[in-house]
Amino acid sequence: MDLNEFITRFGTEKKCISFIKNHREKKGICCPKCKSEVKNWRAKHLYWRCKCGRKISLKSGTIMEATKLEYTTWFKAIFLMTHIKKSYSILELSRLLGIKRYRTVWYLTMKIRMGMGKNLLAKEYLQFFYILSNSSENEYNINELKHHSISAIHNTSTKGEDEINLIAPLQLQWNVNAEENRLRKTGYRCLKILGAQKDIEFKNPITPIKTSIQSWMNKLLSNSNRILKGAHHGVSYLHIQKYMFEFSFNYNGRRKDKFEPLISSILED
Ligand SMILES: [Zn+2]
Repeated sequence: MDLNEFITRFGTEKKCISFIKNHREKKGICCPKCKSEVKNWRAKHLYWRCKCGRKISLKSGTIMEATKLEYTTWFKAIFLMTHIKKSYSILELSRLLGIKRYRTVWYLTMKIRMGMGKNLLAKEYLQFFYILSNSSENEYNINELKHHSISAIHNTSTKGEDEINLIAPLQLQWNVNAEENRLRKTGYRCLKILGAQKDIEFKNPITPIKTSIQSWMNKLLSNSNRILKGAHHGVSYLHIQKYMFEFSFNYNGRRKDKFEPLISSILED
């Protein structure tokens, strides 16, 4: 999708709303309370109303839930993030989107990155365990990222057509849980994102197989490292998986349109 097409299709709040509404209605809206199908759309308040009285808002059940951002902002951010070979820093995106508050843009991009990971987790890809070296107790300094060892499982396709999913190191799991407990006490709002990260199934690494694949894997991992280093000042271990989702998503979609698949995955439950 080029910029002209994007503006024609998603240039206004109204267009974005009707796109989301149609997209969700095509799949069918199910009432979370009584499980019946809901069709009664209230355009004024942007929700569906079930016979049982339950209101289902346009954003509910999607990644956009519990945010007050405009729909056009979401679509613009998704467009930008799917049309760059590397990655945007939060500051770059906040300038482009015209949002001054750092945390708002951070939250937005992290949610989009989680959306990028949704389909990766649903399918079996060539999965890599991404092993990092830590520079301090709490933070992985991006300039010191190294991969000590890499492992591949689920070899699904031939070279050239390959699709991958980089997986954060196994040993970070307990750290994530510890950090989550700490954040719960502070009431930090990114807990929702972290909750989703728990769904990742961490499997035991297997020793790398063929040498030819290994050199290709090394190339891939150094590419992802370079992208992370080039765009971001620091990536905490807590969120490294989300950056990997972004890299894997972009890698898998390198010859395809990425915008529409990402929108669909973001609008799904
Ligand atoms: Zn109902």
